[in-house]
Amino acid sequence: MNRRSALRKRLQHTERELRAARLELKQTRDNYQNMVEEVKDYAILLMDIDGNILNWNKGAEKIKGYTASEIIGKNFRLFYTARDRASLVPEQLLHSAVKDGRVQHEGWRVRKDGALFWSNVTITAIHNRDGQVTGFLKITHDLTDKRLAEENSRLYTEKLEIKNSELEQFTYIASHDLQEPLRSISSLAEMISEQYHGKLDETADTYLHFILQSVNRMSQLIKGLLDYSRLGKAKLDPQVDCNVIMETVLADLQSAIKDSNAIINVKQLPVLSAYPMELKLLFQNLISNAIKFRKKDQQLYVNISACLTDDGWIFQFQDNGIGIDQRFSDKIFEIFQRLHSKSAYEGTGIGLAHCKKIVAMHNGRIWVDSIPGEGSKFYFIISV
Ligand code: ADP
Repeated sequence: MNRRSALRKRLQHTERELRAARLELKQTRDNYQNMVEEVKDYAILLMDIDGNILNWNKGAEKIKGYTASEIIGKNFRLFYTARDRASLVPEQLLHSAVKDGRVQHEGWRVRKDGALFWSNVTITAIHNRDGQVTGFLKITHDLTDKRLAEENSRLYTEKLEIKNSELEQFTYIASHDLQEPLRSISSLAEMISEQYHGKLDETADTYLHFILQSVNRMSQLIKGLLDYSRLGKAKLDPQVDCNVIMETVLADLQSAIKDSNAIINVKQLPVLSAYPMELKLLFQNLISNAIKFRKKDQQLYVNISACLTDDGWIFQFQDNGIGIDQRFSDKIFEIFQRLHSKSAYEGTGIGLAHCKKIVAMHNGRIWVDSIPGEGSKFYFIISV
């Protein structure tokens, strides 16, 4: 074989390799093009430097409603609302993409049929080898459903908050106004019982006694309601030392602790962001309950501790009192719900409802683990 024919053979071989490489490149490009065209959840399109549309995929057709033949060659400003176009939002987006390489934007866009959809758009500048911007890649995601769900949930929360504050106001006014006539009944009954003492028969005296007792109880219930509606009016304090609050509570409950001979062990408590007055009431209610629902024939121990978890501080108030049947573990946190008659244990059934509301104010929750006859463990979380 002479040199010439060897050279020709090499040339033919190189040409074959080149053809194969071109074919592979075309296939890769076609695959890529097909892949982009097939994507249905995102509108992926190329635009020239002025924002004129160069290609269209299925996602774009689904989201914006135009077919490729209707839209290719048109300007992307078409997708913006009249208001956005008047304030030059599309131009500003292209400008930012040129300046920063990429820009993101969320807002209402217009479909072919005029309907609006909420879109999240990313526009990325495409550069040539000299670093000049030659066009843009625009990716749009339709977030209308998410946006509407968020909007609905926001409106629902707003409505709930309004209803809640109306209800609190109503409770406050009702309980405040109820106290006045009750005071009159109470003082009139007292006057009758003093001024007519001995002049009425025994049955009348007994009835009067019951009237005064009932008035007294109703007054306690109304006071509980008033306190309940007043909760949460205070300000959040970023640095509340729970140890200091606990000391005050124990000092306030000193005589009850002494009378019941209770032993109260308190471990180191945290400093956290909280409503101090409400936190004091929470501690106070749980300790008073432990004292009230103790076993009369056994030394009462109350152990109080707190530990930090992923959800926030979990507090534990443990006692060895009479315990609670687990069937009632939710019921006891409802307002005016009690498990005993008032002759067995004094109370209004509002203490734990207070606790629940206070813990909710701290974005937490409260629950109880208990074995009847063995004691109860009250837990609550204060989110931090
Ligand atoms: P009250 O103490 O006025 O009855 P609460 O709302 O504080 O109202 O408590 C509701 C009920 O939960 C109580 O009546 C009692 O049956 C039960 N309870 C609360 N704390 C304890 C406790 N530490 N041990 C046993 N039972 C308890």
